[in-house]
Amino acid sequence: MELRTPPPEAIVIRPDTWTEPFWAAAAEHRLVCARCADCGRYRMPPGPFCPACRSQALEWPELGGRGTIFSYTVVHHPVTAALRDAVPYAVAAVTLPDAPGARLVGNLVGIDSETLGIGLEVQVEWADIREGVSVPRFRPVR
Ligand SMILES: [Zn+2]
Repeated sequence: MELRTPPPEAIVIRPDTWTEPFWAAAAEHRLVCARCADCGRYRMPPGPFCPACRSQALEWPELGGRGTIFSYTVVHHPVTAALRDAVPYAVAAVTLPDAPGARLVGNLVGIDSETLGIGLEVQVEWADIREGVSVPRFRPVR
């Protein structure tokens, strides 16, 4: 069964101090990941303190956009009216080889539920959902 994606009106993005650099880069179709500027540990989503060294210093290196599905779920039940025509859709946690330890969550595109699986290689692509707002999605690498 071909998977769909949630419509723009169902996607709410509320950047804060710790996530704004990610969304600013996303608007330019650049994938970045928070990395501790003191010990080098990657983390996503970023929070105020590094879980390894408690530093608050962050840097945002750009990533290549390749990843591997770590886990996923296929949503069949539309939990809001905006999702009525969007099911089934898949949400995956993707590991990123150039950001070890971090996992990025996003929808999957260009795949059916029979092909979907843990370990599948994917590439990020960008969905422009509103003026100045883009979200990462993942497409299988063929
Ligand atoms: Zn650290």
